[in-house]
Amino acid sequence: MGDSESEEIWDYIVVGGGLTGLGMAALLSFEGSRVLLIEKDKVIGGRSRTTKKNGFILDEKPFHLMKFGWKNPLNDVLRAMKDENYQRLLIHPVRHYHLYVGTEETKKLKPNTYEQSKLKYFKQGWISIPRNINQMRKSDYFGVWKLIRIFTSGFKCTYEDMRDKSLQEFNESKKMNEASAHYLKLAAGVLMHSPYADLVSAGEVLRSIKWSSKQPVLFGYPDGGWQPIIDRFVEIIKRNGKILTNCETNQLFFEENKEKRLETKKINTSKGDFSAHNFILSLPPKRVPRLFQVDGENILDPEIRAFIEKLIPTSGISMDIALSHRPYKGRSLLHFENPDAFGIFISNVESSIAPRGKLLMTVFAPIHPEKIKDKTFIQNLISDLREKIFKMYPKLKEDVEFERIRVHEIVDNTFVNTYQYKDIRPKTRIPGIDNCFLIGDYVAAYGWGEDIGYSSIWELYRVLKERKK
Ligand SMILES: Cc1cc2nc3c(=O)[nH]c(=O)nc-3n(C[C@H](O)[C@H](O)[C@H](O)COP(=O)(O)OP(=O)(O)OC[C@H]3O[C@@H](n4cnc5c(N)ncnc54)[C@H](O)[C@@H]3O)c2cc1C
Repeated sequence: MGDSESEEIWDYIVVGGGLTGLGMAALLSFEGSRVLLIEKDKVIGGRSRTTKKNGFILDEKPFHLMKFGWKNPLNDVLRAMKDENYQRLLIHPVRHYHLYVGTEETKKLKPNTYEQSKLKYFKQGWISIPRNINQMRKSDYFGVWKLIRIFTSGFKCTYEDMRDKSLQEFNESKKMNEASAHYLKLAAGVLMHSPYADLVSAGEVLRSIKWSSKQPVLFGYPDGGWQPIIDRFVEIIKRNGKILTNCETNQLFFEENKEKRLETKKINTSKGDFSAHNFILSLPPKRVPRLFQVDGENILDPEIRAFIEKLIPTSGISMDIALSHRPYKGRSLLHFENPDAFGIFISNVESSIAPRGKLLMTVFAPIHPEKIKDKTFIQNLISDLREKIFKMYPKLKEDVEFERIRVHEIVDNTFVNTYQYKDIRPKTRIPGIDNCFLIGDYVAAYGWGEDIGYSSIWELYRVLKERKK
């Protein structure tokens, strides 16, 4: 590395090269700012990195869908950067959501006539999960009269009333019938990776259902996978800036300005010190506080530190199954119960991620936050999940090219429970420090799960625009 980068005063230094940091840096670079992006690992992309195996393009962290398809806040970043090289991102929609029936827990569910006509294709059968009033008319179990309770009782109370109440408390207080409570649990599972009624915030679940029922699709998958998005961000950052990989950030340096407020001046990294007018931290939250250690004292706002210390992420296990033939052609999102899990034949949704005539299925099962250290529980969960998947789809056992099972302690940094809902999370602006900001999937931005991080790009963008006025 030449001296020029370390001597230059950048407009922005963005720390962390996951999709949130990359999207933020690209947006600023696109508008003409000089941006330096610093990433600890050799390869950028963070949790959204992709890898190749036997001709399959795999998400490093599988079951990686684009929530709300075209309406994803990350797609808004891509759209905001329109120029002569701009190509609209093709997003393949997932239009159908099915819940498998037939286990002890769900055998009382009754498929409607259309569903029954399809049952011959599956040993266990499924029922579709409606996303709005129109679809509810077509479902017997989650029918409109049963679900009307959610839309009347639930939406009559405000988010503010319900954000610190658990879903269980909400169900009890509103005397929710079984089907409605079941629906709310499924929504919390798929939208927030948290199907735990005793923990998840009722206000957030209701808001997410309300929001998602208005979106054209609940999920999509980007054409070519996530790599083209990463590549586009890199291309734009490099127009006006630079990316340093293999560069770990250790500490920030501060000075008092004329108004006697603290300003960040420099950042110390494994590749030297770098200066900027503004610093944006797009890091895993647990790595943030140590950057603010000055002469044995931590100058990060104590409330933010306390929040981060207690912060509980969502956790889960993922399973990829790659086959050398294509026995199933379905493109629906599949919910399984007992154990709770979601799956999709992802290469049927976006064919270029598997070699011709082959199939990739990806499955995700959330893990209860209290069970993540329990090895026996996790081993049992993995074997129950495999048994369930192979029972539903027996042909998945034939001609398996590879299986990949992984445990993820952090899926999303925020489990949206009754003390981690939006308004209680740290804001992008750090109190007491003028030019240092936080983004990522734990700050006070709209969304549930991964989209919190992508929305935080826009949250900060608005703050920066406001400051320029
Ligand atoms: C199993 C699983 C499934 C998921 N499913 C989905 C999904 O369906 N859809 C979806 O949109 N998202 C999904 N996500 C979440 C998604 O991957 C993230 O929300 C997204 O990648 C954005 O992450 P980020 O940039 O905020 O953080 P990260 O990707 O975690 O990026 C943080 C970066 O900071 C770097 N870093 C850390 N410390 C330092 C340091 N000291 N100095 C410099 N750099 C540092 C890290 O190496 C990393 O690259 C899933 C995640 C997992 C694990």
